[in-house]
Amino acid sequence: MEDSATHIDKLGRKNARLKSLLQKYKQSHHLQHALLQLSEQASTVAELTLLYPAIHNILQDYIPSKNFFVVLHNPVYDNLELSYFADEKDGLSVPLKYEQYFKEGLTGYVFKQGKTCYFTKQQTEQAVEQGLLKCFGTPAEHWVGVPVYRDKVIIGVMVAQSYDNKQGYSEQQIELLEAMSLYLATAIERVKKRELLESEVKIRTRALTQSNQALNDEIQQRKNALERQQILFKISELATQSKNLDDVYQHVHNIIKNITYADNLYIALYDQQSHWLSFPYCVDEFNDNGKPRPFAKGYSELVLSTEKCQVIDSERAKELIKLGVVERPVNVPPERTATSWLGAPLKTSQGVIGLIVCQAYNNKHEFSQDDCELITFVSHQIANVIQTHLANQELKLSHQKLEHRVTEKTKELRQANMHLQMQIEERKKIEQQLYHDAHHDSLTSLPNRSLFLTQLEKTLQHYQRYPEQQFAVLFIDLDKFKDINDHLGHQAGDQFLIGVAESFSHCIREHDLLARLGGDEFVILLTHLTEQQQAQDVAKRIIEIMRKPFCMKGQCIQSGASIGITYSKPSYKHTDEIIRDADAAMYYAKNAGRNRFECFHPLLNASNVQHDADNMHHLDDLPMHFRSAEIITLDEQTRAESLLEAFGEHPVLGSIW
Ligand code: GH3
Ligand code: MG
Repeated sequence: MEDSATHIDKLGRKNARLKSLLQKYKQSHHLQHALLQLSEQASTVAELTLLYPAIHNILQDYIPSKNFFVVLHNPVYDNLELSYFADEKDGLSVPLKYEQYFKEGLTGYVFKQGKTCYFTKQQTEQAVEQGLLKCFGTPAEHWVGVPVYRDKVIIGVMVAQSYDNKQGYSEQQIELLEAMSLYLATAIERVKKRELLESEVKIRTRALTQSNQALNDEIQQRKNALERQQILFKISELATQSKNLDDVYQHVHNIIKNITYADNLYIALYDQQSHWLSFPYCVDEFNDNGKPRPFAKGYSELVLSTEKCQVIDSERAKELIKLGVVERPVNVPPERTATSWLGAPLKTSQGVIGLIVCQAYNNKHEFSQDDCELITFVSHQIANVIQTHLANQELKLSHQKLEHRVTEKTKELRQANMHLQMQIEERKKIEQQLYHDAHHDSLTSLPNRSLFLTQLEKTLQHYQRYPEQQFAVLFIDLDKFKDINDHLGHQAGDQFLIGVAESFSHCIREHDLLARLGGDEFVILLTHLTEQQQAQDVAKRIIEIMRKPFCMKGQCIQSGASIGITYSKPSYKHTDEIIRDADAAMYYAKNAGRNRFECFHPLLNASNVQHDADNMHHLDDLPMHFRSAEIITLDEQTRAESLLEAFGEHPVLGSIW
């Protein structure tokens, strides 16, 4: 019996040991499991704020711990900061201002001691009394604080507390807490690293996004720059390749089409002097009339006056109209009123010369500030091209005007020249006439005395150089011419003179010269004489012609010609001498009976006889037989002698003895 009792007792003890062992294994299994869970949490939980409730949950499975909190040391401020707090009395959170008190309370005590501390309410009160610490919040019946170490440095305190007097903490539970504190440190580290990593990733992602954005921006900028470059290139082509302004406007439209909506586009030019707007280019689905108009209160004027790009939608239009800045034409149907309007000034160094306008109807497009910016950029370039073409056109026009003026002036000049030419011709004719009149006899048209003397002078000079080329002068005075005048009238006398001149001209050669000295006196200059007989032949022919009576109005009157001949001789120095001698010979012939010729003899001049009128008249008294004598040829001295013999005295010189 005793043995069985002992045996039972032994078995009972063994059983108890086994039970305690089982409990121990159970606990260690729990611990193992808890740690495993914690490790799992630590590796999966993304934030520390999520880790603490997880720890708390695990703890609650093994330790009756509704009240649990964790403080961590902030080395920057040397503070104990609350990381997690769950309290059935003091709620889920503790105001931050209390955080500093952790340092002075139980938690701070554990942190300073660096080891696990278990306080009952009584022990707490004693410690407070001893001044070891201060008490904050609701005093717990059981309080256990476990330090959290990382790399042998205390980083915080993990606390579990119970407000239930009967609910204390066993050694195993405290061990579990301590074990968990080790893991907590690692988990904190891990989560912190993950947080750090994530934040780094976030930072890097943000940085990358930013750099991507910057890159995108740069790409966009470059794209824009390239586009602008291309537009600029196209515009620069405009300047050189466009034939005329219309061509420029067409190209401008095409360029704008690449930039924005440009189904409706017009280009207006503004004349600063006349204040008028003209519309050299207009493409519009509703309005194709680009009539010029004076500066008024339109959208275009707003662009011109502000010298800025304007984007006008329906709202802004209403506002502008309300403010009185613009006025719109009335009675325009809404579908024909632009719902979006974009106008950019054409600015040059000489100011705003006009504008480019794009407009959209029925909300087909809404122009933006980007459109505005781009068209402004483009319009500057376009303005310069248009300005250049306008200047060229003006130059061309003024050139054309100038050309026209030059042509007109040339025409005028040509006409003036022609007129002048005609005047010159007229004058020449007059001069010729005057010359002719001055050198010709108006009645017979024969050369007059002046021309005769000039010609005689030339002949004399020529003779002086070439004495072998002889000449002779015949002095002719018509006989009884006065009778014709007296009987037939002066006019008949004139006609007789004309007829005589005509007849005489047939008696000479081409190079001889017949002239009328005046009245009924004629002279003939015979040149190229080879012998003196030739002069006498001419005289004979003339006398022969004069034998024919002149008849008119039934009356016939016989005239005749008395001719004096003188031949060239070296002693002649002046034409007067020649005329004088020829005249003397003629006079001699007259006195010798008329109707005859006489050759000059030096005796006729020997005694310086003055052939004045008085001397001549006395010759009229010569006897008729002498006057009407047959043609005789006197030969120098013999002739004179024979005359003296016949009449007793020389007809001109009188008695020579
Ligand atoms: P003589 O035989 O002596 O020469 O006498 P004559 O009648 O011819 O008269 P003389 O030569 O002395 O005068 C010429 C006249 O001729 C004088 C003048 O009345 C006349 N007479 C002069 N010139 C003209 C003229 O142009 N026409 C006409 N019809 N008669 C003229
Ligand atoms: Mg006469």
